[in-house]
Amino acid sequence: MGQRLSLCLVGVDIGGTKLATVVADANGQILNKVRQPTESHRGFEHAIKLIVDMIDQLLHLEQFTRDQISAIGISCGGPLDTKTGVVYSPPNLPDWDAIPLADIVESEFKIRPVIENDANAGALAEWRFGAGRGYNHVVFMTMSTGIGAGIVVDGRILHGASDCAGEVGHQVLIPNGPVCGCGNRGCLEAICSGPAIAQRAQEKVRKNPHTKILDLVDDNIEAIRSEEVLEAAKSADPLALDLIHEISFYMGWGIANLVNIINPDIVLIGTIAVAAGDLLLDPIRRTVLEMSMQRPGEIVKIMPAQLGQQIGDLAAISLVV
Ligand SMILES: [Zn+2]
Repeated sequence: MGQRLSLCLVGVDIGGTKLATVVADANGQILNKVRQPTESHRGFEHAIKLIVDMIDQLLHLEQFTRDQISAIGISCGGPLDTKTGVVYSPPNLPDWDAIPLADIVESEFKIRPVIENDANAGALAEWRFGAGRGYNHVVFMTMSTGIGAGIVVDGRILHGASDCAGEVGHQVLIPNGPVCGCGNRGCLEAICSGPAIAQRAQEKVRKNPHTKILDLVDDNIEAIRSEEVLEAAKSADPLALDLIHEISFYMGWGIANLVNIINPDIVLIGTIAVAAGDLLLDPIRRTVLEMSMQRPGEIVKIMPAQLGQQIGDLAAISLVV
């Protein structure tokens, strides 16, 4: 087995629960990947050692040497500074405070990596490989544990002055509403994220136990998650449909604000919206049309994200293709 002659790209997706590393050809075609649990309790040194080992393992499997890496893309939870490559305590990696990630990787591989927060990298991946292909103005919204967004304008990520653009989840929609992880109250994320939906569902079910949601968790109210709400709503359970109606109203309102400010061609929504499909997206579309200005509201498409589980791998690679 001889060594390949071409160059390769390396992508690293750093999450709170897993690390994924991929090697791709120069066109971004993924050749191979490996995953490992992050074991974030063991600290960042452990995770970085794992990442270096995973990259070496992949290079070996695909018959590349370190010299043949033409670029390294890293997608990681923010906040982080894309210019200095320093990561600042992401919520899912709490002890990663002021970690000079780009410097560490550069000293190991002699190549400066491109570092980006996961929502931005995900937006770039959807624009390049997914449902955002062919559009100039693309917003990709995450809707799972949290709500955030990456905004791509003419093929470039909108970073803002300090890499904080796209925090759509922290627009306040209910003054004095539910407490948000950011410390404020009534943010979109505190109303429509997975944990927020679960909490609202649990409160409603306590007041009105005549719902299919309760059958889906064997009467254990604390076990209700957004998944059960969606499943019950799909079989027309009135309480679940009520919740979907509320969620879609606030999501639609939040997106309408975004539509008026950014004027995107398309807004792609991840995880929960993908699982719910038109059940959630149709009422969101109606709310957006009602609440946004006419011209941006009529042009924007609201669609589920397309890349699903693949997004982490493609996000990191899309930074360097
Ligand atoms: Zn908030």
